[in-house]
Amino acid sequence: HPGTPVRPDTPAGALSAWTVVVPGPFFGGFTYHFDPATGPIPAPGVRVRVPFGQSERVALVIEPTSSGEQETRPILEVLDEAPLLDAETLACLRWAAAYYHHPLGDVVFAALPKILRGERRLEVEALASTPAGREALRDGAARGERQREALEALAASTRPVPATRLGPAAVRRRLLEKGWADATRVTAPADWPAPAEPGSETAPALNAQQQEAVEALVSGADGFQAWLLHGVTGSGKTEVYLALIERELAAGRQVLVVVPEISLTPQLIDRFARRLAVRPAVLHSGLADGERLAAWRAVAAGTAGLVIGTRSAAFVPLARPGLIVVDEEHDAALKQQEGFLYHARDVLIWRARQLAIPILLGSATPSLESLRHAWAGRYRHLRLNQRATGARMPAIHCLDVRGQTMEAGLSPALFRAIERHLLDGGQVMLYLNRRGYAPSLLCHACGYVAGCPHCDAFLTWHRQIGRLRCHHCGFEQGVPADCPSCQAPLSVRGLGTEQLEDVLAARFPGFGIVRLDRDATAGKGVMAESLGRIARGEARLVVGTQMLVKGHDFPGVTLVGVVNADQALFASDFRGPERFAQSLLQVAGRAGRAERPGEVLVQTHDPDHPVLRRLLTEDYEAVMAAQLAEREQAELPPTRFAGLIRADAPQADTARAFLTKVAEELREHFGEELSVWGPVPAPLARRAGRYRFQLLLLARVRSTLHRALWQVDDSVGSRRLGGRLRWSIDVDPIDL
Ligand code: ADP
Ligand code: ZN
Repeated sequence: HPGTPVRPDTPAGALSAWTVVVPGPFFGGFTYHFDPATGPIPAPGVRVRVPFGQSERVALVIEPTSSGEQETRPILEVLDEAPLLDAETLACLRWAAAYYHHPLGDVVFAALPKILRGERRLEVEALASTPAGREALRDGAARGERQREALEALAASTRPVPATRLGPAAVRRRLLEKGWADATRVTAPADWPAPAEPGSETAPALNAQQQEAVEALVSGADGFQAWLLHGVTGSGKTEVYLALIERELAAGRQVLVVVPEISLTPQLIDRFARRLAVRPAVLHSGLADGERLAAWRAVAAGTAGLVIGTRSAAFVPLARPGLIVVDEEHDAALKQQEGFLYHARDVLIWRARQLAIPILLGSATPSLESLRHAWAGRYRHLRLNQRATGARMPAIHCLDVRGQTMEAGLSPALFRAIERHLLDGGQVMLYLNRRGYAPSLLCHACGYVAGCPHCDAFLTWHRQIGRLRCHHCGFEQGVPADCPSCQAPLSVRGLGTEQLEDVLAARFPGFGIVRLDRDATAGKGVMAESLGRIARGEARLVVGTQMLVKGHDFPGVTLVGVVNADQALFASDFRGPERFAQSLLQVAGRAGRAERPGEVLVQTHDPDHPVLRRLLTEDYEAVMAAQLAEREQAELPPTRFAGLIRADAPQADTARAFLTKVAEELREHFGEELSVWGPVPAPLARRAGRYRFQLLLLARVRSTLHRALWQVDDSVGSRRLGGRLRWSIDVDPIDL
């Protein structure tokens, strides 16, 4: 409680000392003292104003400390009446900062809604009852029903009442004028709308496998347990979540649901709202600051029972936690790729353990990390093998395109299949993970290729806007009329979604076509409009990137074509095969979800590729079991603990030399315990004018990896060095 001294042994009038953090590249906290004579003393989780260097900063109190010998500077002001972050959330943030080797102040302030990162107080005007007011109430002196009601509300409350709860402003003014109430300020209440009306939709009767999954969780031991819900696309995982959420809410506990993509929230929110008698609190980056603050506070205060959010919702304080759900747990979007490089799923597993509650990880294509835990019995494995609607899983076939005459990347067989499905009244979806018209422009005469002046990358031709664009740094320029070095005409190389759209629109006029990629859906409301056209059957052809893969339910789709499987099959990343299997099954899962059976055609030059063959003849778990064996052999994650040290600078030598020195020190100090690979150029060796190198650390024992990373932190110190060198640490990297 904010009014209670945290250290009871502090003699009255003595100064108390506190560790606080401020945003910025500081790994530790700072010690300040507080003079209790100046007001109620701080508590962990409240914001304070402190002198910092020559200026002042808003800081967050972490814990009481002994001030030691040092002279400390004073806390100038306590900004919050009650802690913004509870002890559990603070512990999680401290763990995450240490685990991911990121400055604690940045981690803590990033966890607060933007409005609370500054000095803004959470206060509203309030009224407190006075003896005169209580007398007036007894004597019936109040005129009018509204005045009497306000006086009654004040008399009934031991604390000041927020003014907005006391009727119109005129009534409040009268109470103050007559001395029946005193004006004061209180912490703004974290109100959340009460259930408006019960959900209008009733739940389908769960099938046997769904029922089993729900019962397993319900009868599972109290306390922490991780569950992996591995259910094929359309198997009714969301119904399992709903059944469990209903139970938790009825028992008065909160449920936190985290999804990888903001685009997945609207459909989930709609579905939850139709079924549950609660308004879910929503937390994602697309909200206005005020909306986000209100939702965040309602969750932290426990007034909102259900919260749905993206990655950053992993850190929201929960007042009465009951269950955590991570949907699409395999999705790389759950890992933050810039700044604080945390993985929301892994943070939530830590939190569930700390909170002693179950966590449910759901996916049609679980990550190798989670499957491995499930196979080893550390997570409990629940399977849903069939589609809940009774629809059959689509048949997947390879189209061997070797020696075929291709038009815009499509083989004659794929063209025929598209035509057949369109004429049969079906919808057709073509998946190509490359946006723009063509990935490069090339001169056939001299070999010139339009490249980015700042990156080791080609420029993508965006024909609709008539520009060449770098997808890595945002550089763009006009399209040259002909080759800048020999003036011969330029030709197109490769295939992007714009080109696919053009070719299909010309070949199948009158069927309506929608393109779903980042360029085509950028405008406000465009995405919803496009999804609507597909749902209403106005567009019978859909062309898209990774966006198609993400969980949309289009019942009319009967054919899914994977235009270029080789792109993923031959990716150099060690997770390439895993990613390939995941996106293939996810995009295949869009086919045949309703009455009409689905078909999936995969174009490849290597139909005998072991991953592809195993996927078609066995199943996903067989592919992943083989992957695990390969990773073990190659000593890669998840069989080893990995950390990546990245460095970049305007001069290649600066970055390489820095990592070479780090590597030498680590090899010398850790010997056999730690494998140090590199330094090597990063996959994109030059980006935005900076040369990028990386060093991979692998250890059998987690603590070895962390000791190594701490040693680097200690010996190097600052993350920004001479020669404009920057470096960073990525624990459990996704991309190597
Ligand atoms: P997933 O989350 O696994 O993709 P959903 O929960 O979205 O699957 O379910 C897929 C479809 O099946 C939805 O249209 C849903 O309404 C329906 N469905 C789910 N469970 C059942 C059930 N037990 N009986 C009938 N239909 C169901
Ligand atoms: Zn570039």
